[in-house]
Amino acid sequence: MSDIIQLLPDHVANQIAAGEVVQRPASVVKELLENAIDAKAAHIKLIIKEAGKTLIQVIDDGVGMSVTDARLSFERHATSKIKSAEDLFQLNTKGFRGEALASIAAIAHVELKTKQESDEVGTEIKIEGSEVTSQEVCVTPKGTSIGVKNLFYNIPARRNFLKSNTVELRHIIDEFHRVAMVHPDIKFDMYHNGSEVFSLPAANHRQRIVHIFGGKTNEKLVPIDEETDLVSITGFVCKPEYAKRTRGEQFFFVNNRFIKSAYLNHGVNSAFEGLLKEKTHPSYFIYLTVDPTSIDINIHPTKTEIKFDDEHALYAMLRSTIKHSLGQFNVAPVLDFNRDSSMDTPYEYKSKMAQTPTIEVDRSFNPFKEDKKEDSSFSSTKDYNNFKKESAGSWENLYAGLDTTEIQSKQAESEFSSIQFESSEVTGSLFDGDQQTELEHNTTYQLRRKYIITTIKSGMVIIHQNRAHQRVLYEEVLRNITMASAISQQLLFPLKLSFSKQEIQLLKEVQEQLENTGFVFGDITDGEVSISGIPTVTTESEVSVLLEKLISDIEQEVPDSGFSLTDLLARSISGSIAVRTGVNLGKEQLQHIVNSLFACTEPTVTPDNKPTFITLTVDDIDKKF
Ligand code: ADP
Ligand code: MG
Repeated sequence: MSDIIQLLPDHVANQIAAGEVVQRPASVVKELLENAIDAKAAHIKLIIKEAGKTLIQVIDDGVGMSVTDARLSFERHATSKIKSAEDLFQLNTKGFRGEALASIAAIAHVELKTKQESDEVGTEIKIEGSEVTSQEVCVTPKGTSIGVKNLFYNIPARRNFLKSNTVELRHIIDEFHRVAMVHPDIKFDMYHNGSEVFSLPAANHRQRIVHIFGGKTNEKLVPIDEETDLVSITGFVCKPEYAKRTRGEQFFFVNNRFIKSAYLNHGVNSAFEGLLKEKTHPSYFIYLTVDPTSIDINIHPTKTEIKFDDEHALYAMLRSTIKHSLGQFNVAPVLDFNRDSSMDTPYEYKSKMAQTPTIEVDRSFNPFKEDKKEDSSFSSTKDYNNFKKESAGSWENLYAGLDTTEIQSKQAESEFSSIQFESSEVTGSLFDGDQQTELEHNTTYQLRRKYIITTIKSGMVIIHQNRAHQRVLYEEVLRNITMASAISQQLLFPLKLSFSKQEIQLLKEVQEQLENTGFVFGDITDGEVSISGIPTVTTESEVSVLLEKLISDIEQEVPDSGFSLTDLLARSISGSIAVRTGVNLGKEQLQHIVNSLFACTEPTVTPDNKPTFITLTVDDIDKKF
C-alpha cells in the first residue's frame, strides 16, 4: 500500500488550532485586549458590532510593531514574549504562545494598523483566512489597531453555533470586565453598535470596581490585605448583608489573571460562615499574587483553572484574612443572628387580599366550567367568600383527574360532573347543615410546612406547596405577559433599586415583558431603576430579589437553545415569589393553592418539569397493611 500520511497545509492547521483558541467572539476580545496590555497601552478602546459577529476592534496606544513584526505577528508560534521554555516561569506578559493572531487570522477578515513611536509611518496589513491580501504603508497614530470582521466566515458550522447577540455580548462584557479589573491604571472604553457601554478612567482598584459595578458598590466593599511569604492577598469582599442570591460577582485573579477555583471559593464562603442568609453568596474581588514558579502557568488560553503548589495553605490564609477584615470593619457584630427567617417569607397572603385588585384573566383555558368565579388572586375577602360558596359544591371535582395525570379540558368537564366523592359522602352524613365548608376545612392539611394533603375519592393527594405555587404563578404570569393585561399595584413611593450598567441593559431588554406582568418603570438611569408599580402577585419587599434573580436567570439560561424570554421570565418570577417550604399556611391559603393548582393547564409539574403532587390511592395504602 502506498503512503497515506500528509502534512496538513498551513491554513488548515491554523483553522484547526483556531478552534481551540477562538471559541466565540469573546475569546477574540480577550486575546486582543491582552495583546494591547502586553504592548503597554495606557488607553484601550474596544469597539464591537453585533456582539462581535460582524466586528471586534481593539485600538491601543501601546508600543506598536515594526513592518517586519507586523507581518510576523500573524505566523503561528510567532511571539516577542518568550525566547526559551525557561522564560515561561518568569512570565510577566499575558500572552506567550504566539498563537492568537495566527488563529484569529485563519477564521476571519483581519485588518491591522500599527506604528511604533519612532517610525514616521505605520503599516497596514489585511488578511483573510490566513492569506495576506494587502500590505501598505499608512498614516496612523502610535500604537496598534486590530479589526476582526466576520468571525468564522469560513467555518459556517462554528458561525451557526454562535448564540444570540445577548449571550455573546454578555460573554464579551465578562472578558472585558476581567481584563479591566486587573488593570485599573489603564483607561478602557467600550462601544457596542455605536453606543458607549463602558468608559472607565484610569483609577485605583476600588474605583475601577465601582465604575464597573455601579455607584452603590463602594459602600458594600470591605478591603482585605495580607502579605505572607507564600502569597499576597489584596482586594475586597462585599459586606455580608449585600450577599446575593446568585453568584454573580465573584472574582479571583492570580498574578493578574482571572481564574476560577471552586476550592478557594469555598475558602471565602467559609470565612463568611454564620454571617450570610441562607442561599446567598458573597461577592468578592480578590487579587492573589504568588511566586510564578509556584503555579502551573502553562495553562491553556481558554482555560481559567490553575494549579497551585500549596493550595491548602492558600485556602487557610484566604479564609483567615477575610475573617479578620470582616471583624475589623465591624461587619460581623451588626448582624442579627436571631433573625426569624420566616419573617423573610415572600408570601404574605393576608395583605395581598387587602390590596390586590382583581386580575382579569383568560378563563377559556380553564377546564372546569363551574369555576367561573375562580381566580388565582382574590380581589377582596368578599370575592373570596363568594368563591368559596360558589365553588364549594364542586371543589372536589378539581381533583378528579388526578389519577390520569393529563387533564384534557373538554373531556374532563363532562366526566367530572358524574364522579362521586368519598369525602363528600362521609361528611355529608356527619355535617348536615354546612357540609361543604366543613368538608373543605377538614380535608386539607399542611404537613411539616412543606406538603399539602387533601383527600380524593380514590385516596389522597400530597402536594408540594412550593412547587404547586410555582406552577400557579407561572401560568398567571405567562397569561399576563402574553395578553398584556396585568394590573399593577401602584406604590406610594417609587422604589429605587440600583443595578450595574450591564444589569440595567438586560432589564431594558425585558422591560416591555416586565411591564406586561404589572411592573411600571419610572426613570432608568445608568445605575438606578425607579419602579412605581409592581405586579399584584408580588410585594414591594420582594421586588429587588425578584429582579436580581431574573437578571441572573437570563444571564445563565440564555445560552440554552430553545430559550424563550417569556417563558424564562415567568419561570424566574414564579420561582422567586412562590411560597417557600417552611412557611406555615392558613387554611385559606392551602385551599387557594390547591384550587388554583388544579385550575392550571398543566397542574402536574412545575415549569421546570418537577412533579407538583403525588397521589396515594387506597389500594396503595392497603398494600402497606
Ligand atoms: P502572543 O501574545 O502569545 O505573543 P499573539 O499572536 O497574540 O501572541 O501576538 C503575536 C505577537 O504580535 C506578540 O508577541 C506581539 O509581539 C505582537 N503584537 C500583537 N498584538 C500587539 C499589539 N496590540 N501591540 C503590539 N504588538 C502586538
Ligand atoms: Mg497574545
